[in-house]
Amino acid sequence: MVAIRVYVDPDLCISCGACIDTCPEIFHWDEDGIAEAEVDEVPEELEDLAYEALDSCPTDAIIEDSEEEEKDDITLAMKKD
Ligand code: SF4
Repeated sequence: MVAIRVYVDPDLCISCGACIDTCPEIFHWDEDGIAEAEVDEVPEELEDLAYEALDSCPTDAIIEDSEEEEKDDITLAMKKD
């Protein structure tokens, strides 16, 4: 199973609130008024909402990452050595 991770690039976030409206279980405001992801790994039951929030971001500030891809990268790096 692939663990989905999401995080917000604070340089791209324009504080529109779309992600927080769409998925308040994951996204919230930080002390500077910028959105941030509250969880490290997205629970399976929230994946659809997380992707909806990602699509709703007007500046593509939400970055999605998956654990399996990271492992593949490590495997490739090891093979190169
Ligand atoms: S939708 Fe994007 S720009 Fe809007 S608050 Fe969330 S991260 Fe920031």
